[in-house]
Amino acid sequence: VKDSTRKAFRTLRLKAEDSSARQHILTIKLKSKHPAEAPECSADLPVPLALTWTAQSTLEQIHSQFLLCLQSLAEFWDVLDEIDTKTWILEPEKPSRSDTMRRIAIGNNVSIKVEVDPRHPKMLPECCLLGAEHVVTPLRNKLNANMHLWNPDSSVLHNLRDVLEIEFPSPATHEKSDFNVECGICYSYRLEAAIPDQVCNDPHCGQPFHQACLYEWLRALPTSRQSFSIVFGECPYCSKPITVKMAAQKS
Ligand SMILES: [Zn+2]
Ligand SMILES: [Zn+2]
Repeated sequence: VKDSTRKAFRTLRLKAEDSSARQHILTIKLKSKHPAEAPECSADLPVPLALTWTAQSTLEQIHSQFLLCLQSLAEFWDVLDEIDTKTWILEPEKPSRSDTMRRIAIGNNVSIKVEVDPRHPKMLPECCLLGAEHVVTPLRNKLNANMHLWNPDSSVLHNLRDVLEIEFPSPATHEKSDFNVECGICYSYRLEAAIPDQVCNDPHCGQPFHQACLYEWLRALPTSRQSFSIVFGECPYCSKPITVKMAAQKS
């Protein structure tokens, strides 16, 4: 084999299908001392890819190890696929197979952020409710009161519905534009990766803002007051009190 040909084959992409017919790709970079040196393998997974390699290993064995790894994650992807198809996901914009977080729309300016454990996908995930206090507080109370009802044999979406006692808006019932309300300061929805997640707590207002926009706005006003990293000021829409934490500095 000529060296140029060998070079062309140094990176391989193997396709694999899991038990729910999802397509996955394993990228294999062969090292110069192949097969004595283990190839570098990568895939879009929520956990580190651990494949064992010896000088006697074949690519076929690597492929079957990869299939086993996919099998161990099938339940995790089943849980997230159900959420992705039956609810409106606000974040991430385009979830990849390695993303464990979903921010799910509950209503106008109310959402829940869940962090699903790839190893225990049906257990109660880490949850964080986001939105105006008067809407979030009753939901948080239900979450705390009903947490013990969480049934690990049922899906995360089912459990969230039961525990929060709500129906999630879905593509069948709502348009996504019902939830991605633009920022009241810059009039856009996405500001780099950020979405308008700071909401005025006044029940008659509820206007969302980007954290960075609201921080800059309040900081520029003489009526605002700053204490450590928090700025206290007035909502640009309804003039009711509003607070915002200093936006994280860009690195
Ligand atoms: Zn903005
Ligand atoms: Zn307001």
